[in-house]
Amino acid sequence: MCGIALGDFLEALDKFAYYAYIEADAIGTVQHSLYRIPYCRRYMAMSSGQENLFPGVRNASCWQETESSPMYKRGWKRCLIGGATAFALAGVLFFFWCVPPLFDRLVNRTRLNRPYVVMPEAEALHQSLTVVDLHCDALISSRDLSVRANYGHVDLPRLTEGNVALQIFAIPTQTPVCAGVPWLPTDFDALTLLIAAQRWPRRAWTSTFERALYATERLHALEKRSEGTFRIVASTTQLEAYLRDRERAPTLTAGVLGVEGLHCLEGNLENLDTLYDAGVRIAGLVHLAGNDVGGAAHGGNRGGLTAFGEAVVRRMEEKRILIDLAHASPALIDDVLDIATRPVTVSHAGFTGVCDNERNLSDVHARRIAGQGGVIGVAYFPWTTGGRDVASITRALLYGVALVGVDHLALGSDFDGAVTTPFDASGVSLITDALLQADMSRDDIAKIMGENALRLLRETLPEN
Ligand SMILES: [Zn+2]
Repeated sequence: MCGIALGDFLEALDKFAYYAYIEADAIGTVQHSLYRIPYCRRYMAMSSGQENLFPGVRNASCWQETESSPMYKRGWKRCLIGGATAFALAGVLFFFWCVPPLFDRLVNRTRLNRPYVVMPEAEALHQSLTVVDLHCDALISSRDLSVRANYGHVDLPRLTEGNVALQIFAIPTQTPVCAGVPWLPTDFDALTLLIAAQRWPRRAWTSTFERALYATERLHALEKRSEGTFRIVASTTQLEAYLRDRERAPTLTAGVLGVEGLHCLEGNLENLDTLYDAGVRIAGLVHLAGNDVGGAAHGGNRGGLTAFGEAVVRRMEEKRILIDLAHASPALIDDVLDIATRPVTVSHAGFTGVCDNERNLSDVHARRIAGQGGVIGVAYFPWTTGGRDVASITRALLYGVALVGVDHLALGSDFDGAVTTPFDASGVSLITDALLQADMSRDDIAKIMGENALRLLRETLPEN
């Protein structure tokens, strides 16, 4: 696509040079200036030959130079500089206009083609549910989330179509490329390139805290643009009001702001207050690498809660920010559960009993989290479910139900989190359909599809 655009651009430049020259022949004084432009020079030289390519324009006096003349040599230099400049310009255009959507298309894919097919009975049940998804990363997408896109996973039209009442929008602020790419330094942050390509403000290029703040601004801007069809929920009062309004207007949808990884506090506890003021109500302590709060399930630092981390956890509980233990190391999970006085979540994960890897929860941890009133969101990609289809998601959910009881399971898609999922936000009814086919009761389906997550939010959000 971009190759064609570049070709068109050069062709247009060629035409411009040709027509500019024709005009220049009539205006002799401009002719000499145009001759200094390599493209014009090329056409002038062509028409100075035996063959009259451009009738009426052979009188230019500036074609007398030979290949050895200094002006000729300078012209070639200019040609090279001009070519390099055009190439660099094309590179810049590609980086800023093509890379973000291309990246989105490549990494946030779905396996099933629309329209998604579910049983009428399941569709009817799904429309009666209050669906909640505990995790998506759509705020780092370059897409306008108020408009339906044909790629990626989440936008308002697709949330409405999927009857998603509440979507938690978490903000990843750092993606260290630690593994699998040996020629990159371990602290190389791929997200910096992506947000630079998306033309986020300069303050967000170097500060993960500023990135998080800017992402909150993006969701607030979306709320404004939506003209009342989407709202950000930040308290139980707002939650109840929203749910009442949605009974009358089922196409309404809402979001809760979250951050993924508290490295974005940049070691400053007061930054947590600023994020809270910006609307953040759920926070993952770590993301793809350990930080000064605690260790992650991945990377070199897999330790427990630090002294700073303990202060962070206490401040989160004080302010009523929901603690998210997704991506946490086993030691960190234990340490947090030891001191937590409120229920926590693991917003997007799986179970080692279904798919045994570091990203997923052991049976012991799953039982502990549920025992303290927490809710576990099952993500939709192979690393967490062990498979690529809807049946794998259902299998993980049913495993969790058997392990910790139906009151502690929820959806945690990880949509737009650089994962390939079976469907996008418009196809969540496929899970309702699969659970119904697995002979789960309607009440239990309602709990998994949203009621459990709502209960957790009612228990953990601030009142006002
Ligand atoms: Zn994640």
